[in-house]
Amino acid sequence: MSEKKDWLTGAGTNTKLCHIGHDPSSYHGFVNPPIVKASTVLFATAESMDPPQQKYTYGTRGTPTTDALCEAIDALEGSAGTIILPSGLAAITVPFLAFLSHGDHALVVDSVYDPARHFCDTMLKRLGVEVEYYDPTIGAGIEALIRPNTKLVHTESPGSNTLEMQDIRILTEIAHRHGALVSMDNTWATPLYFRPLDFGVDLSMQASTKYPAGHSDILMGTVSANAACWPTLKAAYGAMGLCGSAEDSYMVLRGLRTMAVRLAHHDRSAREIAQWLEARDDVASVLHPALPSFPGHALWKRDFKGASGLFSFVLAENDPTRFKLRAHAFLNALQIFGIGWSWGGYESLAVVANVGGRTIAKPPTTGPLIRLQIGLEDVVDLQADLERGFEAAAKV
Ligand SMILES: *Cc1c(COP(=O)(O)O)cnc(C)c1O
Repeated sequence: MSEKKDWLTGAGTNTKLCHIGHDPSSYHGFVNPPIVKASTVLFATAESMDPPQQKYTYGTRGTPTTDALCEAIDALEGSAGTIILPSGLAAITVPFLAFLSHGDHALVVDSVYDPARHFCDTMLKRLGVEVEYYDPTIGAGIEALIRPNTKLVHTESPGSNTLEMQDIRILTEIAHRHGALVSMDNTWATPLYFRPLDFGVDLSMQASTKYPAGHSDILMGTVSANAACWPTLKAAYGAMGLCGSAEDSYMVLRGLRTMAVRLAHHDRSAREIAQWLEARDDVASVLHPALPSFPGHALWKRDFKGASGLFSFVLAENDPTRFKLRAHAFLNALQIFGIGWSWGGYESLAVVANVGGRTIAKPPTTGPLIRLQIGLEDVVDLQADLERGFEAAAKV
């Protein structure tokens, strides 16, 4: 294993994805890890149980299957440890609970994944944590918002639906100077296109539901911590009785093997469609960080290695009372794009972007905001489908 670790360290992304997380020689040569379903783990003697003298002690404390996934994610994130959660949303809420206490103040980006905002406004509020939302483009201005009791700065870049880019390095520098931790929801880029811990982030969160699983059939989340935060995160995970399912861990590890290949395809197709949309008169603007016209483009270009398949565009409409009507006509005419939540699977999706709770990062006012997940279908077919949408939207 140690010899393998050596060549893996310097290997390219695809090579890494093919070999991280499981050592075939540790399990009879089988290429993939076993799916270990377990509560009880037996000990050879009473003495070996007190204190436990073996690697595995109980199902909730990890199995060879969940360990394989955690090791793979650690290799990708450069983290000291990773926990597995039953959803991407839990990968945000659990670290908030682990690191925030009554009387603390947390700064959360206003373009945050909306269900995370709901958690902050309900449970965190009830527990006496004050959450303040900040402008995703605030940069060094974050310093003015930091208070003596600010414990956490939560980031998400690009932002959900509106895709604002954040200067993560500046934010971590300032937060750390004031003793606050920085968490990042990195679901959009995955650690292949942005490695949060390399930019000073303490806790990197990923909805594995999206690109790591990649097939719209798994719900899972991971949180990866640096060495300083790992003991607290791990202790909270154990204290709350959380654990990852063996089958879903296996499936996410399986998804990782092809993630770079899939992402490259999503990226290429999404950029092609974003450019094509931008040239149209019936599109007011396209919100995609890889487009030079996008306000956050320079930051994206400086810090990110690629773009994923998720972006939004504004369907041109002057009258706000007709936004919904026009957006619905567009969506209902689509035949390939499915209308549904989530993203990161192989199939294309379109929805009216959910930006309801925003107080600062407001959506454009030039028409309804439509979010597209560009799947692995052929671009010409997707363009033909979108044409159907534009044609129907023009008729309302
Ligand atoms: C989907 C999503 C999540 C939550 O993932 P689930 O597994 O669906 O709970 C978290 N953050 C972002 C940015 C997402 O898009």
